[in-house]
Amino acid sequence: ESGRSKSHLYSQKEQTKELLKTRILWKEKIEAALADKRLCLHFQPILDIKTNQISHAEALVRMIDLDGEIIMPNSFIPIAEQSGLINQIDLAVLQLAFETLRFLQTQNNPLKLSINLSGKAFNNTLLISTLKEGLKQQDIDAKKLIIEVTETTAVANINTAVNLMNDIKETGAKFALDDFGVGYASFFYLRQLPVDYIKIDGSFIQTLEKHKEDQVFVKAVSEISQLSGLKTIAEFVENQTILDLLASYNIDYAQGYHIAKPSATLPNNKLILSH
Ligand code: C2E
Ligand code: CA
Ligand code: CA
Ligand code: CA
Repeated sequence: ESGRSKSHLYSQKEQTKELLKTRILWKEKIEAALADKRLCLHFQPILDIKTNQISHAEALVRMIDLDGEIIMPNSFIPIAEQSGLINQIDLAVLQLAFETLRFLQTQNNPLKLSINLSGKAFNNTLLISTLKEGLKQQDIDAKKLIIEVTETTAVANINTAVNLMNDIKETGAKFALDDFGVGYASFFYLRQLPVDYIKIDGSFIQTLEKHKEDQVFVKAVSEISQLSGLKTIAEFVENQTILDLLASYNIDYAQGYHIAKPSATLPNNKLILSH
């Protein structure tokens, strides 16, 4: 008996040790990537449903491993958030976004760019000042930038968040509320947050044609958004049936594998769907 439980305890301890080791390894991997500037952005086109043109792109961060392998954010963002490295990632993403906006301007590409900031962004004073200063610079068109925040980011300290958002919006930049619908009090906070876009969470969109409840929800979000002067974006649009449904609900924008997967190259605003 006692032997068995001892070995059980031992293996649990070993497991915890292994987990800790992996976490430390990942932390070192992220630190090295930050130091070597091995973070990059991939871009996923966003379709303006009414004009059938690509109007926006979402920037999604990737880490390039020493062997060239591309590491997806779900593998390193959670560890970065736990270890405090997320502040540096947010800053790196912002710098890359500024470079991208400058590049778009030199190409006369009217594409708007959205970026993701972490839940820690509103407490990161260096990030906020870099953001405000950067957006005021001549060579960046602040109106082309959309900052995606989740409800959790904004609601943790709602008064601070609202003040910062209003401050940043004075430069012309816009905000989007990401992952809308999976939070705990979505409509309540929507009234208070100075956002310009609502991104309906992909879990409502992916199976839209099959679930009546999702259809009712998406339609309601569309109607409320229209009343409030907000633009709606549906993510995870994976087939034409879903895109047609969204169009019938007057959703403004669509993003997902049916339109395009994220890629290293920036889209131009040519027509891409010919249905
Ligand atoms: P998110 O902001 O909700 O981004 C959407 C994710 O869904 C992306 O994954 C995208 O590639 C994927 N996706 C797009 N279309 C479809 C589709 O039709 N079907 C399905 N099944 N998936 C689709 P990715 O790039 O792996 O990003 C995952 C998450 O990592 C993001 O979720 C976001 O929370 C976080 N993230 C990405 N980039 C950044 C960043 O620069 N900074 C921070 N802090 N977080 C980021
Ligand atoms: Ca996003
Ligand atoms: Ca999302
Ligand atoms: Ca998500």
